[in-house]
Amino acid sequence: MELPGREVCYRALESRDSRFDGLMFVGISSTGVYCRPVCPARTPKFVNCHFFGSAAAAQNAGYRPCLRCRPETAPDLASWRGTSNSVSRALALIAEGALDGDGNSVEKLAERLGLGERQLRRLFLQHLGASPISVAQTRRVLFAKQLIHETQMPMTEVAMAAGFGSLRRFNETFRDLFHRAPSALRRRNPARQGEKDVKLRLRYRPPYDWRSMLSFLEARAIPGVEVVEAGCYLRTVEVDGAMGSIEVSHLPERESLGVSIRFPDVRLLPQIVARVRRLFDLGADIETIDHHLSGDPVLAPLVALRPGLRAPGGWDGFEIAVRAVLGQQISVVAARGLAGHLVVRHGRAVPKSFLIHPGLSHVFPRAKQMATAPSIGLGMPAARLTALKAVAEAAVADPNLFRPFGSIEETVARLRTIRGIGEWTAQYIALRAIREMDAFPATDIGLLRGAASMDGAKTTPRNLLNRAESWRPWRAYAAQHLWAADGAGRGNGAHVST
Ligand SMILES: [Zn+2]
Repeated sequence: MELPGREVCYRALESRDSRFDGLMFVGISSTGVYCRPVCPARTPKFVNCHFFGSAAAAQNAGYRPCLRCRPETAPDLASWRGTSNSVSRALALIAEGALDGDGNSVEKLAERLGLGERQLRRLFLQHLGASPISVAQTRRVLFAKQLIHETQMPMTEVAMAAGFGSLRRFNETFRDLFHRAPSALRRRNPARQGEKDVKLRLRYRPPYDWRSMLSFLEARAIPGVEVVEAGCYLRTVEVDGAMGSIEVSHLPERESLGVSIRFPDVRLLPQIVARVRRLFDLGADIETIDHHLSGDPVLAPLVALRPGLRAPGGWDGFEIAVRAVLGQQISVVAARGLAGHLVVRHGRAVPKSFLIHPGLSHVFPRAKQMATAPSIGLGMPAARLTALKAVAEAAVADPNLFRPFGSIEETVARLRTIRGIGEWTAQYIALRAIREMDAFPATDIGLLRGAASMDGAKTTPRNLLNRAESWRPWRAYAAQHLWAADGAGRGNGAHVST
């Protein structure tokens, strides 16, 4: 944990400094609750304040979440704290349910990360002040609390959605913490009774350049799978074979995104929320990143032009990989058309009752469907069809293909063993699907043009790479700024190699 000193933390609390929101929690020994630094309640005495770097650490120390400032609504920044890659990755997996259910354990989680169990525990204690199990438990409690406050879901569904094994365990946990039944925490809202969709708010650390995010997604929206309309992003989603759709909007006054989810299985809600966070890059400590990139005279004016510019992720690793291959050597518009054909041919139709918008119809094809299809059936060069097939087969053979694997260089090297995946494609997949925030496709024409437009002179991939050294460990954000500088609409569809 790298918390500033007690006095600094206390001053942040006194001034309700939102810059500390998500990075610091305060346990108040006189009341037994823990709060966000922005809590509207009267500031407690200095001697009663105990500061923590994570909600789990506060909960571990015996504090319960405050009902006023609601720690579950703090921006979830833990994953990009830059303290430890292994911790970030473990947190991402825990958010997707890696420690929920009977078949899962810390041992298995450690194994997936290539670590020993004891090593993982030690890293968690060092960086978060809590064990992996208590981080997972805290997440469950906080997610359940959010569902209680923000939705009208029945309590049995809340318990299931938050990953509690049984309603009894859920009730017990809440009684222990709050000395009352979970249902007593809910305020009835008759207007929202019988609501079909689960609606949640996901907070980010401001600023957030929503316009750039939306126009990036709009330029690439696949017909039938994605719609961008009236300032919102909508798409079909598939998780573990179940299909539905989501709508994401911007709530700037709440420093949040609003998400509506229409999906048949509540147990998959945590995964859907984790994916939305990843797609919209909600975990970025953007102020720190913008500050770092502004140190470069070329990037400084770009950052000033688009403060809070995010690096868009992907809904699904395989989908991003296929898009990357389709985008080799052609424009964004052409790639989007090809993706549309692919969806019509190989994607499954979503049942109408789970479609949130008439423009949505199919989910993106799964790797297995494409690997086993006798023909991909797209009019494109044979080499790229072979690459599509190879990506599908590799994804079927290794379900963790689009997860981090060692260093960024190792991740890229592993992707490059797939036939037809060159440096550009591998870097692009690492950036958007695997969320390597230091990935950088230096051969991309859009990047080179963007850099040239700032420098006033042409540059080469090698020069660009040299220059990018000082942008580490956030080269992905620098790339996003250069693409944006290259002009809306052109973006990163064209590049010089595969
Ligand atoms: Zn509070």
